[in-house]
Amino acid sequence: MKSFLIMKFGGTSVGNAQRMKNVAKLITNETPKIVVLSAMSGTTNSLVEIAEYLYKKNHDTANELIFQLENKYRNVCNELFSTNEYKNLALETISNHFDDMRKFIIDVFTTLEEKSILAKGEILSTTLFYYYLLENNIDSVLLSALNFMRIDKSDEPDFYYIKENLQREINLYPDKNLFITQGYICRNAFGEIDNLKRGGSDFSASLIGAALRSNEIEIWTDIDGFHNNDPRFVQKTHSISELSFDEAAELAYFGAKILHPSTVLPAKAANIPVRLKNTMNPKAAGTLITNNSLNTDEIKAVAAKDGIVAIKIKSGRMLLAYGFLRKIFETFERFQTPIDMVTTSEIAVSLTIDNDQYLEKIVEELRQYGTVAVDKNQTIICVVGNFAGNKTGMALKVFEALRNIPIRMISYGGSENNISILIDSQEKIRSLQALNEHLF
Ligand code: ADP
Ligand code: ASP
Ligand code: MG
Repeated sequence: MKSFLIMKFGGTSVGNAQRMKNVAKLITNETPKIVVLSAMSGTTNSLVEIAEYLYKKNHDTANELIFQLENKYRNVCNELFSTNEYKNLALETISNHFDDMRKFIIDVFTTLEEKSILAKGEILSTTLFYYYLLENNIDSVLLSALNFMRIDKSDEPDFYYIKENLQREINLYPDKNLFITQGYICRNAFGEIDNLKRGGSDFSASLIGAALRSNEIEIWTDIDGFHNNDPRFVQKTHSISELSFDEAAELAYFGAKILHPSTVLPAKAANIPVRLKNTMNPKAAGTLITNNSLNTDEIKAVAAKDGIVAIKIKSGRMLLAYGFLRKIFETFERFQTPIDMVTTSEIAVSLTIDNDQYLEKIVEELRQYGTVAVDKNQTIICVVGNFAGNKTGMALKVFEALRNIPIRMISYGGSENNISILIDSQEKIRSLQALNEHLF
């Protein structure tokens, strides 16, 4: 089996006609590769908005937004293609997809229709890009991710299915070296169109890389790799040249938007390096994420995850009792709600969740064990570095930086590379900035 390089380009990297042309330059060499594209930037947000209006039966506004988005795509075509042949082909594709979308302006609008709409972004970007390659005599194959990418009944990737079907698709073209496909979109256990959740194109690339046992998975975005802090909120951040899979997973899970949180898993399991690169500055080294545990002494990076709910269960019955935590955890398991942080004292336990779908039911059940207090609008600050048990002074550095921030929970020692701190979301930016000043 041929060895493929996986190259995933995010929304900004294919955000306009010129950017698409730049991507074409980055992928045209002899190396066999699978190119995974996101929707053009802004598109998925627009599609989400259109679906929201359709749910609300506000058909006029939905129609207007569909019209605006279609126009945007027609303009991209005019800039992207230089021959009438391909311009017309692309315009026809655009008309078909937007006409199809208009068929969803119906009273009974369900998640089924919504997911079909959300899939249009990646289908459009890959089709336009494929036509551009054809127009420029660059030989490639457009693979529909809907033919191989699949999630099971628990919304987890069906890895066996993905591997079998992707390989079968690729084997149909033994002489081809360049494949273009969609990130984000997939089918679910019922064969319906579905997706890997927002930002999921990174995850698609990682699943494809693992399925094909690639040598490397490259994630091309609009910044020169993983930064030590969130550049949206903090000035003077810098790119990190190397991270371990575990470090990258913690940062991605706890809010570093550059990587979809599930991306690391398939790559780590298959031991495939993930390289983050900047489409706007391809010469920059970026970040290499590998299985090599890098035993550096420093604190490497900070990330923050919003939308956290803290729940405290206080009970005299916990004192000297065993089995108490099990009962509490079982409640969360019954409502399929993952727990992120946990801290315990002899009479109380505090924990956090990021999905409040079943919050009321969970709280109702927990009340049988003691008094329950809920704090919403919390943020987890995650500090990643080397916090091995024999190290001294690491916590001091972190808490000195946060001396003026009220802290709700602390988790230290869960792993050797992470300290998590729960704060009120209002304190997030101040905390990230304070950590930046004191730690780096
Ligand atoms: P793409 O559309 O290419 O997937 P994203 O917008 O999803 O790109 O991710 C890249 C963005 O992630 C950057 O522009 C940056 O603002 C944001 N970001 C947040 N935290 C970090 C971090 N620690 N390092 C780098 N970028 C980060
Ligand atoms: N287009 C999808 C989104 O905006 C997936 C992605 O870009 O990774 O969420
Ligand atoms: Mg992204």
